[in-house]
Amino acid sequence: MTSALLGKILVQSLNGYVFRVPHLSRTSALSKSFLLFLRALLIANIPKGKVFFTIGIDTEQDLDKNYVHTGEYRNVSEGIPRLLDIFDDFNAKSTWLITPDVAHHSGDFFKKLAKKHEIGCHVHPEYFDGSLKGMRLQKIFPLFSYEKQVEMIQQASDVIRKNVGVNPSSFRAGRFGINNDSLRALVSCGFNLDCSMTPFLDWDFHGTLASSDVSPRFLRVGSSDILEIPVTIVRPFRLFPAWLRPSWFSGSEMINVMKIRARSKETPLVLNMMFHSMELIDPNPNFTAKRFFDNMRSVLEYASEHCVSFVTMNDLYNRLKPSTSSQNQADPWKNE
Ligand SMILES: [Zn+2]
Repeated sequence: MTSALLGKILVQSLNGYVFRVPHLSRTSALSKSFLLFLRALLIANIPKGKVFFTIGIDTEQDLDKNYVHTGEYRNVSEGIPRLLDIFDDFNAKSTWLITPDVAHHSGDFFKKLAKKHEIGCHVHPEYFDGSLKGMRLQKIFPLFSYEKQVEMIQQASDVIRKNVGVNPSSFRAGRFGINNDSLRALVSCGFNLDCSMTPFLDWDFHGTLASSDVSPRFLRVGSSDILEIPVTIVRPFRLFPAWLRPSWFSGSEMINVMKIRARSKETPLVLNMMFHSMELIDPNPNFTAKRFFDNMRSVLEYASEHCVSFVTMNDLYNRLKPSTSSQNQADPWKNE
């Protein structure tokens, strides 16, 4: 990166410009350097035993180095088992947001996985018009009518139900692209929660909902509520966004993200890590699978030492939903 470009982005950030993410490597490099600086400043720890940690994985076909789907699923057969061994070491639960083609191809694999982890739903609209290989087509839910969104979400759910035998109730949209119609569509299809929002990031896509709210919250949709669990992203001093995302950030950088979130003193504190299943195998554009697994192990070690509760997204929904007997919030620690 040239120093001129770096300077331009820095000035934009200081002016409160919402940082856009046109390419993975630029965000990663900037955030990394900034977090190195932060590491020296931070002394806070996350509060022991008062944190929910959820892990949501967009689970799709393999990608080639140009981010084009290959039609293969080596990430499922080789990458996921390797990650599950690490999850077992820390008794970590996770939510696998799978696309309908994954459910169709690897239904038996996810049937077994569903015994310990959650299976949710991840949808890219191009799946439905046969153009799945064109990941750069940038098709997102806000480009479609409410009725078409309902149809796509329902179809994807049906494929998961038929092939995996579970009723998905957690959802993340392809390219984090949702609008208010998407939330209505999710409610009408029986979903409890969505995790498509990425705080501080404006993907600049046709009315996609954007928010800097980093905490989970119930959103009113008609006469119902849907839980929004944003991806954990921090943007200290309005500078570069840093994620709980082991493909882009090292273990120590993500631990700093956790510490920054802890400074909010929220109870319970909710941390929501995200990544993609195809990042579990090589080749990747800017990192190796080994580095991914090293980063993941570091974070889970730190989280375990601080007695976080690893929960699936639907576990979290059940802990946070208002009690049915009154409008008061249920005690989220009631099952601890
Ligand atoms: Zn996706």
